[in-house]
Amino acid sequence: MAQNFHGGSIYQGLGSYANELFVNDLGFVCDKEEFEKSEVQEHLSIDGNMLVPGFRDTHSHPLFAGREAQGLDITHIHSLDELGAKLRIYRNENPQLIWLDAAVYDRAMEGNLTRHSLDAFVSDIPVVLHADDHHTLWCNTKALEVAGLMGAPLPVLSSGRIDVDQQGIPTGMLREWPAMSLVMDLAPASTLQQDVVALLWAESQLIQHGIVQCQDAWIDRGMAEVYIEAAKQGLLRLEYSLAFRADVTTFQNDFEYFLSLRQELGQSQLLKAQAIKFFVDGVFGSATASVSEAYLSSNSFGELIWSENQLVEAISLSHENGFQVHIHAIGDAGVAFALKSLATASPCPRGLEPVIAHAELTTKDLLIAAKAQRINLCMQPYWAQNNGMLLSCRDHLGDSRLNSLYAIRDMIRAGINVSFSSDWPVSTPSVLNGIAVAVYRKGAAEMEAHNPTQAISLEQAIDAYTVASCRLLGKDQTGTLTIGQPFDATLIDRNLKQEDLDGFLSAKVLATYKVGKNLLV
Ligand SMILES: [Zn+2]
Repeated sequence: MAQNFHGGSIYQGLGSYANELFVNDLGFVCDKEEFEKSEVQEHLSIDGNMLVPGFRDTHSHPLFAGREAQGLDITHIHSLDELGAKLRIYRNENPQLIWLDAAVYDRAMEGNLTRHSLDAFVSDIPVVLHADDHHTLWCNTKALEVAGLMGAPLPVLSSGRIDVDQQGIPTGMLREWPAMSLVMDLAPASTLQQDVVALLWAESQLIQHGIVQCQDAWIDRGMAEVYIEAAKQGLLRLEYSLAFRADVTTFQNDFEYFLSLRQELGQSQLLKAQAIKFFVDGVFGSATASVSEAYLSSNSFGELIWSENQLVEAISLSHENGFQVHIHAIGDAGVAFALKSLATASPCPRGLEPVIAHAELTTKDLLIAAKAQRINLCMQPYWAQNNGMLLSCRDHLGDSRLNSLYAIRDMIRAGINVSFSSDWPVSTPSVLNGIAVAVYRKGAAEMEAHNPTQAISLEQAIDAYTVASCRLLGKDQTGTLTIGQPFDATLIDRNLKQEDLDGFLSAKVLATYKVGKNLLV
């Protein structure tokens, strides 16, 4: 059936609007002539709403989000008392539980966030709480005990930290994956089928937010298998690019595995082994991102997880084997280190220019270098607001650095391909909320705008979730609603051109089209 959309705002991408749009029987955008040749025609008024190209989230963690949703939800808890009540009730209601996993706690919560405070709520089984930055794990004593972290010399970590008290005994806070994994590797594994259920739940969330394609930016052993299984069962509806996480200690061994999984993934049209993901530094919230000027809180410069030689070698191996490189770099020194290593390594495969994700603290010179090296930047616009997550970094960074973060407008003006993403479950998968903050630099009317000179237009924000995402992923498609392109589109329940911040924040997706088919019915 051919379709004709009219009667509202139709944004085709790259600044162009159309009065109406035609889609052929195969689900591709076509001209009026071709539409009229179709035997079955449907005329659809969009009732003054807005139709835009389908969103593509280039850095998200749907499987983690799905797994997290299967555990205990502590997202909206803001006091220790409330948290304690919730954990106690959950434990009592689930006597068979052997491990209690909950997410996510607010790092700005008042009180002593130690193992002792968790022990007071639940002490007979391991309890692990994930922080809202997803780089911090808060454990009770039992969890530390099973990981062998109580009463023995602590392991030396490649990066990250086990917080200790004055006696050198762990407090319960583990920072960054090398520390967190000491406990998390012991968590009871979910079954493949449980993981498939988690993934499909996550996919339904993505579809509700108008997303047609997603890059899972952290694939460890056992995760690609979930995508493959869901595809085999014919249950997947969206396209996924997967980025395998490179671990500095096991990279050489893991690489063989990445290659074999790539083969398997290639058998599904919806799946692609796209990239190798590197973490070069940490996060601002734990003062672990690599910075050129010391943190005010610790007088340290954060940490670099790879040595330059190691990183150059690993990037070269990835490039030579046809992988894109996707680098987590948050501090300015982290971004500089990534750029320098990329410049030294073997050239990237054609059309798969490297990605630097987050790039929260940048300078003009770094942006000039990124442009010259044809780097894609993958940004999370939702973070560019004065919320708890940002303000918890103030003591570390100081006001002037904090206020200069997320220089999105400068990045676009420098000519860099800037793609947007959510980093879900670190923050909401809602693309419309991401667009709202990109345009208004705040997430609520009463907030003070963050670094407002870096605000961008609605069209630029949509392009960053569509056109720029296609470019980043090296797709043949352009991410626009133009003739010959698949009709991958999102229908929004209002015309955002006429809305203020509140209108943006309350907007909803009415339809998510993938090659002409609405997935939201
Ligand atoms: Zn991420």
